[in-house]
Amino acid sequence: MAYDPDNVFARILRDEIPSERVYEDDEFIAFKDIAPAAPVHLVLIPRGEPPTSLAGLGAADVAWAGRMLVAAGEIARLAGLEDGGYRVVFNCGRDAGQLVPHIHAHILGGGDLGAIAGGN
Ligand code: 5GP
Repeated sequence: MAYDPDNVFARILRDEIPSERVYEDDEFIAFKDIAPAAPVHLVLIPRGEPPTSLAGLGAADVAWAGRMLVAAGEIARLAGLEDGGYRVVFNCGRDAGQLVPHIHAHILGGGDLGAIAGGN
């Protein structure tokens, strides 16, 4: 799928849409989700024009994708989630309800998160 430079997260990266950033480095930013699904709900995204989801990743992406996971753990630690625990979720495609076509990880915590999947 071609990258849509006007997707919400691209616009957040360009500061065209305000966000509450909680973390940034050369490759990634993390910000508070506008509609939190847990007491702490952060969204971690790569800068630039990454694949739209995990489905678009290949061998050339192994290094930065690994660093994204390392960043997710570090951001959870900085958010104070390490003791209680947390969940990291990549929504990929329709059945997962993915809305924004820019690969991202949800970092959820701050209370009992319940079962891993809703619905059925
Ligand atoms: P997805 O469903 O694509 O995995 O997750 C997209 C997430 O982005 C949703 O949890 C949604 O609440 C969040 N979101 C959508 N628009 C905005 C926005 O303008 N600002 C922020 N901070 N989060 C947003």
